[in-house]
Amino acid sequence: MGNSSVDFLCDYRMLIDGQLVDSAERIEVINPAHGECFAAAPDCSEAQLNHAVESAQRAFRKWRGVPLKERQGMLLQAAAILEAHADELARLFTREQGRPFDGARAEVMIAVNWLRAYAAMDIPGHVIDKGDGQRVEVRHVPLGVVCAISPWNFPVNLAFWKIAPALAAGNTIVLKPSPFTPLCMLKAGELLRDVFPAGVLNIISGGDELGPLMTAHPGFAKISFTGSTATGKRVMEAAARDLKRLTLELGGNDAAIVMPDVDVDQVALQIFMGAFYNTAQICVATKRLYVHENIYDSLKDRLTELAKTIKVGDGAEQGTVLGPIQNKRQFDRVMGMIEDARASGLTLIEGAQVPNNGGYFIPVTLVDNPPEESAVVQDEAFGPLLPLLRFSDVADVIERANASEYGLAGAVWSKDVDKAVAIAKRLETGTVWINQNLKLRADTPFAGHKQSGFGIENGLEGLLEYMVPQAIYVPHNT
Ligand code: NAD
Repeated sequence: MGNSSVDFLCDYRMLIDGQLVDSAERIEVINPAHGECFAAAPDCSEAQLNHAVESAQRAFRKWRGVPLKERQGMLLQAAAILEAHADELARLFTREQGRPFDGARAEVMIAVNWLRAYAAMDIPGHVIDKGDGQRVEVRHVPLGVVCAISPWNFPVNLAFWKIAPALAAGNTIVLKPSPFTPLCMLKAGELLRDVFPAGVLNIISGGDELGPLMTAHPGFAKISFTGSTATGKRVMEAAARDLKRLTLELGGNDAAIVMPDVDVDQVALQIFMGAFYNTAQICVATKRLYVHENIYDSLKDRLTELAKTIKVGDGAEQGTVLGPIQNKRQFDRVMGMIEDARASGLTLIEGAQVPNNGGYFIPVTLVDNPPEESAVVQDEAFGPLLPLLRFSDVADVIERANASEYGLAGAVWSKDVDKAVAIAKRLETGTVWINQNLKLRADTPFAGHKQSGFGIENGLEGLLEYMVPQAIYVPHNT
């Protein structure tokens, strides 16, 4: 299975109207483990964007009428092709994103699983007949062309979170990955070129100007955006101009609450990885760790040991657990937060040394019980900087956890699962994990509360965000 002629090391082109196309201008792609440019991607022109949207509009007229089972059959083909090329994609992923191979491959497999999940999901419809002389057929119809914009932290997974439901629902799509990590999705476009009819799946790349050009484009019926809350607000403003449907998955500042009855040795590694996996560049990473005072010191010691021993380095090297920060902009931001924390007298615990080779490496950094109002607690770091916060009272810690403009996810750790669930129900977030973290399922809605999002991804609820209900009133007597 698959296309053996695809060269993953060069020749990155966009997929527009079923054709692989280059552009006059190009953007540089940097390997964050060295800080050096290793590839170039097309910088989509406005004319090419218009062509992509027009081809997607044309394709939509037919695609919406293709029976669901046939559309889903194509999603299954796409899944099989990606799976067959998971290793090559993962190696490219490490070069552009920084994450070591196993995690990179796992991300490609998440995309595969999402395609398979939406290939198996029915679109509901129902008939209302109350014996009053008519029946009403309620069905869901697709919207049109979807504008999909994704970030650099999970560049493959988050793109397919949009592609799979959008296409299953009968929409066509123009997807733009982040300018920092365009390559895997450009190669995914090349791999899937012949799976879908021309114009159904379009993948374009470009610099900072391309996102606003897309969100302002009147040819899109819906925008599905994943990225920062600040950009999400600009996207929402742009959508208002012609009332485009909108799904926003935005930032988070997730709290984890660790109760005094946990076995510290047993949970420490999981808690550590829940905060630092992907070098802490995860929307749903633990970003504030509230630990009961009875176990605060012992958990702090275990986390310190892990921080001092887990290898941070080039994801392409054997034994690396945590790669670099993905880009220089984010590196400078996180380093700035660490310097400010140090300058303001907070107690920082620094993990193992990191390579000093021009790559964007930051040591794992714990902050020992900073004040609640400090920036390291209030702001999303999106990098390996984790405040450990002492608590003694459950009602108080729930209030502190909820005192955030964000509401993405959270976690509760306790041997008393009922008590943990009771705490979870009082957290103002769209997802809460008990004694685990970072696990998301294709069949389960994922929705940011407060400023973490608008709308829903995943699950049937996520599929229906790509559709609109239509009610057909049919009289019995005609
Ligand atoms: P970002 O907002 O800077 O960029 C996201 C995407 O938007 C990129 O493709 C970018 O090119 C594009 N973009 C930039 N300006 C735009 C504009 N004015 N109009 C339209 N598009 C524009 O975010 P990032 O730095 O790439 O990602 C990190 C952020 O994403 C973090 O805050 C993280 O929490 C969040 N995130 C959220 C989720 C979620 O599901 N809730 C998942 C992953 C990341």
